Amino acid sequence: MPSETLLIEGLSHRFGITDILDDVSLRISPGEVVALVGPSGCGKTTLLHLAAGLLDAVDGRIDNGFASHAVMFQEPRLLPWFSARDNIAWGLKARGLPRERRNERADELAREVGLSGEDLDKYPHELSGGMRQRVSLARSLAVKPGLLLLDEPFSALDIGLRRELQDLLVREIRERNLAVLLVTHDLAEAVRLSHRIQVLAPEPGRIVHEEIIDTDWSARSRQFLFGRVSAMLDNPTVADAFGTEGTAW
Ligand code: ATP
Repeated sequence: MPSETLLIEGLSHRFGITDILDDVSLRISPGEVVALVGPSGCGKTTLLHLAAGLLDAVDGRIDNGFASHAVMFQEPRLLPWFSARDNIAWGLKARGLPRERRNERADELAREVGLSGEDLDKYPHELSGGMRQRVSLARSLAVKPGLLLLDEPFSALDIGLRRELQDLLVREIRERNLAVLLVTHDLAEAVRLSHRIQVLAPEPGRIVHEEIIDTDWSARSRQFLFGRVSAMLDNPTVADAFGTEGTAW
């Protein structure tokens, strides 16, 4: 029985003749949030897709020891012909849970993510963007994943809603001891949510810096976030990865 860890070692990937990722290694254990940041096109999403088993790596090793994992994307990707309730319960149907139990579980999760009973009867086109992303989060949690793979899950939301859903995610991570791999282009979000931030430089994508954030979530004030982001960008390796070295940033 493999231990509950996501272990990536010496991972490389190529699309055609273009090297996308080179020699990437990382490990995520229960309760840990690891963020991948780096400039657009450096291979963050490719790495997440490899971790999710949606792509096969050209070289290296991926051991996913979690019994179950869920992926959440920037777009909620809900099924338009299903109500919010049925979207949340969709993964449970595939696991053979009877309808009544599925609905109970969907209602419970909906409450957890701040949706009302009324919202659950609506179809995706009747929900706001924030509500759709709440449904998507509840759907991910429904399958009781040990590992959550998140690809820019909050980047389409306004700042207030993003903050609210980040808080919700932190609560779920704490309560369920989830392991999380988070792709984000938002350094402040990475500092807010993660224990470790892996900075990727492009062409090919490779980890050039690891930032450890060991401050408790509750103590990560706005000043703390901006201070850490600013300190990271002062680091020449990080600035070079983002192409901001020598700018006023
Ligand atoms: P962004 O922050 O803009 O989302 P990213 O860091 O997540 O970017 P990826 O989406 O992983 O980057 O893409 C890395 C590189 O791989 C890009 O050059 C992209 O064009 C290329 N790429 C991604 N998917 C494919 C594919 N299926 N076939 C060919 N090339 C691809």
